[in-house]
Amino acid sequence: MQKQNILLIYTGGTIGMIKDADTGTLRAFDFNNILTRIPELRLLDCNIETVSFKAPIDSSNMSPKYWADIAKIIEGNYNKFDGFVVLHGSDTMSYSASALSFMLENLNKPVVFTGSQLPIGDLRTDAKENLITSIQMASLHVNGVPVIREVALYFEYKLYRGNRTTKINAEHFEAFDSLNYPHLAESGVHLNINKEALLKPNSGKKLIVRTAMDTNVGILKLFPGISKPIIEAILTSPLIKGLIIETYGSGNATNEDWFITLLKKAISNGLYVVNVTQCAGGSVAMGQYETSSQLKSIGVISGRDITTEAAITKLMYLLGEKIGANNFQFIFETSLRGEMT
Ligand code: ASP
Repeated sequence: MQKQNILLIYTGGTIGMIKDADTGTLRAFDFNNILTRIPELRLLDCNIETVSFKAPIDSSNMSPKYWADIAKIIEGNYNKFDGFVVLHGSDTMSYSASALSFMLENLNKPVVFTGSQLPIGDLRTDAKENLITSIQMASLHVNGVPVIREVALYFEYKLYRGNRTTKINAEHFEAFDSLNYPHLAESGVHLNINKEALLKPNSGKKLIVRTAMDTNVGILKLFPGISKPIIEAILTSPLIKGLIIETYGSGNATNEDWFITLLKKAISNGLYVVNVTQCAGGSVAMGQYETSSQLKSIGVISGRDITTEAAITKLMYLLGEKIGANNFQFIFETSLRGEMT
């Protein structure tokens, strides 16, 4: 059987750090020498090549420009490789995995994001297991067809749909979760694939890479006591084109007159407002309570069970694609890459 060709794309983050044995300081690891530094990788039944950002970054510095760089690396190498593993800092990995899921239309090969909580050179590192199993996940194929054909995220024994994940812990090895969608696979003694949960894209379609992201967007988290001037400043800003409002429970917000009036005016002036719940799990259901029924009637878009990470990147993506006002709500409320139920 032919060996799978896997491209490792190193963007930065803790995973690529190694401790200098003499000084104890952390420094970036040279990924071009990865096969010599991690000999275990030779045992994998695949050919591995690496490409690295010129200056690897902490993922707090991640931006749409870097997302486009990752997308273009994948596009440029799409025919040459069977799968892609993106090594990325864990802090904003869910945003990047969500953004890439939208940018890579008709993706038919695995793109697996991974990282680690401890540097690869640390004695107790989680990096080796995450890296090795991510490569294995990206190499899985049946009759020449890849098993994973979407943007996924692998961390601490679980493979998730990337645009369903959230970083939930800054310390535990189990740093990610996907509260509204089952994991795609689990690594135990065997790799157990949850076949039903996998995205099944149309394999006849050609990859289209769309990298225009409009960053004139914002996230407003509600809290009891949030004041009118704050809401007004955001809703009347001339720059903002799309706003995620993180509401309570199943999509509820104060129904005081001033709030609804400001929101209604902003929407009629062309602002796209999306309702996403602050809860880690569950869905927005506008109209279930009195405190959400007006939101629905004034044209607030329902984010249903989407994560904030996927919602903000979807907003950037649809605005970047210049989707017209007539279709915007319908397209946002449609699941494009399995990001909402
Ligand atoms: N600050 C790091 C980053 O996100 C943390 C990590 O890699 O896990 O780049």
